[in-house]
Amino acid sequence: MSTLLRIAIQKSGRLQEGSLDLLHESGLSFSNGKDQLKTQARNFPVEILFLRDDDIPQYVEDQVADVGIVGENVFCEKKKNNELVKRLDFAKCRLSMAVPRSENYTGVQWLNGKNIATSYPNIVKDFLQKNNIKAGIHEISGSVEIAPGIGLADAICDLVSTGSTLLSNGLKEVEVVMQSEAVIIANPTLDAEKKKILEKLLFRIEAVRKAKN
Ligand code: ATP
Ligand code: ZN
Repeated sequence: MSTLLRIAIQKSGRLQEGSLDLLHESGLSFSNGKDQLKTQARNFPVEILFLRDDDIPQYVEDQVADVGIVGENVFCEKKKNNELVKRLDFAKCRLSMAVPRSENYTGVQWLNGKNIATSYPNIVKDFLQKNNIKAGIHEISGSVEIAPGIGLADAICDLVSTGSTLLSNGLKEVEVVMQSEAVIIANPTLDAEKKKILEKLLFRIEAVRKAKN
């Protein structure tokens, strides 16, 4: 049996369409039925796995997948044994601190002694440390933007693209913690054959990018 490079992409959500487009535009022909867990390309030595994006860094570390497409925010948060091999220029957003609009936010020191709700505790911890701030981190997995309104936290750190979700929850963006876009991550110990397939795929992705610009 010849080698296949296993690529993990998000099963459904904001990264799904961009990931599928990227692979299709790179000339890979494959079916993606709704309830499929994985599929093999007909014309390129890859197998595509459809997974929850949050799980992808761990699967890549464990070599269940060889490479994956995730948000840079997830790559940074998970701190798994993954290598960032390429930024993909889609799913752009930022991870930001936001506070109630009524607060007189004067600067990052405002966060001292406060409680911050987030789904990104590791990134927030690093940010606070870098800025010499001591604050509580309250990890929640979804609907972070409602936390201040229900008295769960003084501030939040969450993904923002247009800011409309913040606005409708009475919050204002006060610090950009990181910029993010979709990225390809890889296990750092791929064998030579898999590396060759990955190089070929990256070459095609780059060719598509050049053709678009
Ligand atoms: P689930 O894990 O249940 O699928 P999720 O919130 O992790 O939910 P998505 O909302 O699909 O998944 O987001 C996936 C990625 O898309 C994010 O990690 C981020 O990198 C990117 N993204 C791009 N724009 C946005 C945005 N406006 N809001 C949130 N994420 C965004
Ligand atoms: Zn997710």
